[in-house]
This record gives sequence, C-alpha cells and structure tokens, in this order.
Amino acid sequence: MTDETYDVVVVGAGPAGAAAAILLSQRERSVALIDSAGFPREDESSAWLSAQATPLVEQLGVNLGSIPAKPFQNVTFFSADFAKTATPAFAEPAGYLVRRGALDNALVDVATSAGVTLVQNATAKDVQLGESNVDVLLDGDKRVSGRLLILAAGRGSPLLARCGFARPSEAPLWTAQVDARITDAAPAPEPRITIVLGLDRGGSFGLICHHEDRVSASVNWGGEKHEASPTLINLCKMAYAHEIIPVDVGRQAAAATVVASPASAALDMDTHVGKHTLLIGDAGGFVSAASNEGVYPAMWSAEIATEVAHAALDTPLSQDELMSFNSKWRIKMADYLRSPNTDPQFLLPLVFSNQAMADRMGAAFFSGENI
Ligand SMILES: Cc1cc2nc3c(=O)[nH]c(=O)nc-3n(C[C@H](O)[C@H](O)[C@H](O)COP(=O)(O)OP(=O)(O)OC[C@H]3O[C@@H](n4cnc5c(N)ncnc54)[C@H](O)[C@@H]3O)c2cc1C
Repeated sequence: MTDETYDVVVVGAGPAGAAAAILLSQRERSVALIDSAGFPREDESSAWLSAQATPLVEQLGVNLGSIPAKPFQNVTFFSADFAKTATPAFAEPAGYLVRRGALDNALVDVATSAGVTLVQNATAKDVQLGESNVDVLLDGDKRVSGRLLILAAGRGSPLLARCGFARPSEAPLWTAQVDARITDAAPAPEPRITIVLGLDRGGSFGLICHHEDRVSASVNWGGEKHEASPTLINLCKMAYAHEIIPVDVGRQAAAATVVASPASAALDMDTHVGKHTLLIGDAGGFVSAASNEGVYPAMWSAEIATEVAHAALDTPLSQDELMSFNSKWRIKMADYLRSPNTDPQFLLPLVFSNQAMADRMGAAFFSGENI
C-alpha cells in the first residue's frame, strides 16, 4: 500500500468503523479506513435507527434528511397468532427508517470528505501487532500501518483471534430477513413498524418495516438455527393473510440467509482491548439483546473508543489508556444492551392488556429502557 503510518487504522467501514474514522479525523488524527467492499454499496433493505442516535449522527456530520431517513411513530405490536394488538405511544419519533446502503454510504462519504484514506475492495487478511505499530496485511501483500488499530469488521470476523480476542459468544439468537419491493400496491403512506411478539416462550420476535415502496420482514429467533427460516416464512404468510403486508413474500423468505446475532455478547466478553487495538461494533458484540438493534450501538461504541484512542495517542502509556475502554463503554452502554429483566411469558399478556405496559415495551425496544 504505502509506507505512511497512520495514527489509526480502522478495519471495517460499516457504521462502527466509518463513525470511528470520522470522529478521529474530527480530532485531526490521520486515519486509514479499510473495507473488503467497494463504495457506494447497494443495499436497498430497510433498517431502523433509534431516535437516540440523532445527536451522534449529527455530530458525525451526516444529514438524516438527505439520506433520507424517515421518522416513524407508527408502531404496532401483534401477538404471535395475530389475534391481539397493542399500540405504544411515543411523544417524539421512536426512530427513523433508512435504506441501509444509503446510511452506510453517507457515513463513508463524510469520512472521505474529512480526509480519511478509504482503502476499499481490500480485505484485511492478517494483523501484526508490533511494539510500536500495527500492520494490517491486505490482499496482494499490501500493508497499511498505524499506531493503533480499531477493529470494526463485523460479526464473526476471523481477525478477532489474530488480535488475541475471544470470539463473542454467539448467543442463541438467529436473524433472517427478507426485503422486497412492492410493485402491485400503493406505497406505504407513512413509515411504520410491525413487531410480532412471543414467537416462542423466550424473547423471539418478528419485525416488519413498511418503508415507501418496500417491505422488510425479519425474525430474531432464539430457538434452533434450522427453525429460523420456517419461522420467517410463516411470519410472512401470516402477515400477508392478515393484510399487514400487501404481498406474500414467503417464497423470497425461504431464500433468506440465517445469521447468528452477537446480541449483547459485549457484556460477556472479558475485554475489548488488545495490544494497540480496540474492538467495536458487531465484532465486539455491541448489539441490543431486546431488539437486536446494532447500528446505533456500533456508532456509540465507536464514539467511546475514539475518545479513548485519541487520548492514548498523546500518552507514552498508551496501552494503559486503551484499557480504560473496557470500563468506559460498560458505564455508558451496558444497560442499553442488556435484556429486559422480565420474563416474556409474564410480560406479554400485560403488553396486550395494559396501555402503560405497551408504552414501556415500546420504550424498551426503541430506546433501550428497562421495563
Ligand atoms: C438481517 C439483519 C437486519 C438488521 N436490521 C437492523 C436494523 O434494522 N437496525 C439496527 O440497528 N441494526 C440492525 N441489524 C444489526 C446491524 O446490521 C449491525 O449491528 C451493524 O451493521 C453493525 O455495524 P458494524 O459496523 O459493526 O458491522 P458491519 O455493518 O457488519 O460492517 C463491517 C464491515 O467490515 C467489513 N469487513 C469485514 N471483514 C473485513 C476484512 N477482513 N477486511 C476488510 N473489511 C472487512 C465488511 O465489508 C463491512 O463493511 C441487522 C442485522 C441483520 C443481520
């Protein structure tokens, strides 16, 4: 690559890595941002972003209006048999619906405009942790060096082991999503979210985003992996039968990939700090247990990591400074990531019979509040 040594090399240009790169460049640090993908990336699927992310997104310099991100307040909870409903009230928008690719591209655009060196279409194959530098080895024997490394390579990255991290436990939560363009029906008049609770006796749920001319349906399934796909297909069929979505996307659902979620795995990890290295985003298990939300926690973990990295670059005892990341993220994020301390079997009947409980469930899901 080049012989230049950056202050920080960030591997992974998803929300975690791009946010880290932006925040470091705002602090006048030189940053290389490496991703195996090319940008702009095409991903038309819908994702929701918590309203709590708004100040951080603004700090990152991303204009939500230009993505565009559509605020939503219209949320309905359904019971698994679709017989019961509850409508949580939100004083402000509960969050925003975005096209996932548009959000990721906007973050990377801001990073490059801020002077970050984007190394795209380049897979980090290995990492060498030296005494004063970190070398990231790319395809074709290229190398990018930095004083510090921020690892933001997403769930299941093999680079974790190379950097001395235990793999986050793959909590028994499986995610599968289908996304379809609606061509035969009028576009959704306003963005809305349908959440189907109680898919099992644990916290499994389905989530359907109705966003302009698209519908995205996902399951977050705590049972066996092989059950996730049939559960998604059934969710899509039931939602169509109850006229919650205007088309039957069951067939597309059958082709959906089932992936393990690192939901709340951060809480179980001993450390997110290695030699000259910090671990953020999905790679570090920063995903909410209640809602499987990961975009805001990814950026939030990046914000805390960049404060720590910035301070570490100015001190001769940089490793001691880096170690403070372990306590700093826990103080700020642990409650947000943790499962609600309530048995779903006890809770769900209350959600469908008591408006205050429906509101609290809404706040737990979209704002990480405890029930
Ligand atoms: C089906 C599904 C639906 C979801 N929906 C939502 C939602 O609606 N709202 C929400 O908040 N969260 C959602 N999530 C979770 C969310 O997508 C993740 O938590 C979030 O993307 C984490 O961001 P990240 O930057 O840590 O990782 P990622 O977004 O996974 O980014 C990692 C990046 O690293 C790159 N990379 C990986 N390995 C290498 C390598 N060796 N070298 C170079 N680059 C590499 C990848 O190309 C990628 O760009 C969903 C997850 C799934 C699976």
